[in-house]
Amino acid sequence: MVKAPMTKDLMMQYTLAALFGIAFLSYFAFGLSSLVICLISVGVAVGCDMLFAKLSYRFPKNTMSAAVFGLIVALSYSLGLPTAMATESTPVLAGGLEQYLYPALISAVGLIVFKKIQGLAGRKYVNPAAIAKLLILGLLFLPMFSSMSALRPADHLASLDLQNPLTAGLFGDYYPMETTTLGTTLITCYGSPSLDPMNPYTFGSYDNPLPDVLFNMLVLKYHGWIGGFSSIVVILMGLALFAACRGYIKWRITLAYLVTTVIVSAVMGGIFGGDIVLRVLFHVFMGSSIFMAFFMATDPATTPLTRLGQIIFGAGLAILTVVIQTYTGFLGASILALPIMNLMCPLLDRVGLPKASTTRLKIKLPKAKKLGDQMTTDCVRCGRCLTTCCKNLPVIMIKEAADKGNWARVEKLGAAYCDNCGHCSFVCPARIDLKSIIVSARDKIKKQ
Ligand code: SF4
Ligand code: SF4
Repeated sequence: MVKAPMTKDLMMQYTLAALFGIAFLSYFAFGLSSLVICLISVGVAVGCDMLFAKLSYRFPKNTMSAAVFGLIVALSYSLGLPTAMATESTPVLAGGLEQYLYPALISAVGLIVFKKIQGLAGRKYVNPAAIAKLLILGLLFLPMFSSMSALRPADHLASLDLQNPLTAGLFGDYYPMETTTLGTTLITCYGSPSLDPMNPYTFGSYDNPLPDVLFNMLVLKYHGWIGGFSSIVVILMGLALFAACRGYIKWRITLAYLVTTVIVSAVMGGIFGGDIVLRVLFHVFMGSSIFMAFFMATDPATTPLTRLGQIIFGAGLAILTVVIQTYTGFLGASILALPIMNLMCPLLDRVGLPKASTTRLKIKLPKAKKLGDQMTTDCVRCGRCLTTCCKNLPVIMIKEAADKGNWARVEKLGAAYCDNCGHCSFVCPARIDLKSIIVSARDKIKKQ
């Protein structure tokens, strides 16, 4: 019986449970539409996973991972129609059958091209759900301005009403954000379609839209991204996941993203005027931004390993997102910013590397759980082995250098200091025998 504090399978189970909770509760904003989209997206992802497992042994079946991926695709999908005064109660049905085809396509392309085939390279460089959505959206950008596209989603990108109060033109002209304009636009875009947005007694005061905007942005949005239907629900599910996987989830990215978004939005408010609080609320809680911050930006496979790298990653993601949203009017910019920051990871992995310690450090290890025999899997890049080495060694970097036969780097990273304690193997959720790998690398460079 192997005892271990965490495994990759357990992390997947916790993630699936959190995502399932969000998907289930989204029924209260979108009705059956969101549940149907989730089922389609998960079904396509799991089906493609099984098909590829049958086609080649190089694509092992991973149903749990495919289901998590399918749910992330669905929850980051916009099925609303947030143009001002939207009245559809079930926007996906109003949009027609192509609205189901869109997430199915993202799910299939993402799983096959960006999970399975990208995985053959030994690691993933970009978030599969984000890049697949971007690719499909990219194909839709041009036809979006004509009525020719069968796949055109009725989504936020077409809404000039929402863009104008927030954006600054790239060529000098900009639209100063007026409090009532943005406030009432947000309310009419995201508020309950059963309420009359023109009736101030029902809908609140036009002069002070903040309470209604707060309700929409935090508690319940009736249009837009499924995973952004309730920021409170997403935050609670995200925090529960962080608590269950503490030590293994890269929460610094989420924190850095949220703090930097607030700061950059406030700076934009200072530059362009208007109500700073409304602008901040918009950039932090708009769409599935909060979902991305908790569930996509923390994807272990496509994010930096070092703590400082993670903080820079989260801050960079926020800066790119707010700047793109402000200067281009592309209001789902986090989906573009995320793959850009993912591609920066090899550089960020070199920032803040721990320095080998000559003395043995006291490390508090997590409690072991009885988890049964676990198969060794590929590294999930959780970074846990970086923070539990009693000699403060960058264990996973040493392993990667040893795998490539780069002994000069193995030596530079301090493998000679390895104390054979085994902490790294104990905490590794992928159950990689890191201790043996580092010890043999240590012995190899000592013999040279
Ligand atoms: S066995 Fe692992 S944790 Fe222990 S000193 Fe060596 S590399 Fe560090
Ligand atoms: S090798 Fe290190 S980074 Fe990779 S899964 Fe194991 S503990 Fe996490």
